[in-house]
Amino acid sequence: MECVFCKIINGEIPSKKVYEDDRILAFNDISPMAPTHIVIVPKEHIASANELTEENAEFISHVFVVAAKIAKDLGIDESGYRIVNNCGADGGQTVYHIHFHLLGGKKLAVNLA
Ligand code: 5GP
Ligand code: ZN
Repeated sequence: MECVFCKIINGEIPSKKVYEDDRILAFNDISPMAPTHIVIVPKEHIASANELTEENAEFISHVFVVAAKIAKDLGIDESGYRIVNNCGADGGQTVYHIHFHLLGGKKLAVNLA
């Protein structure tokens, strides 16, 4: 099993955990692009947004609810934040285990593309 995020989920690779439950794990990004940069992943290995189905995508609403909770805990709910999913080469995806970036703690770049 070569997936970096599966290895983080099963503890083979250490991470700074921010939140965990039966469905998802959130941890600090190893190369943060903002003062707050957290990666939120489902425990189920889904390679990218391309592999989402009505059956396996339910965790996504949970990701957004947990992201808002984390943002509040970290005191960036009022200042604002961004939740990002990169899909595929042109989308800038480097780890093929679907994940959502939670970014904040500074005024983020406006240009998304
Ligand atoms: P992507 O570019 O696929 O959207 O995002 C992958 C993210 O995972 C990158 O921001 C990268 O810094 C982060 N990342 C890659 N490997 C590791 C790791 O071993 N530990 C942690 N904490 N983050 C990682
Ligand atoms: Zn994986």
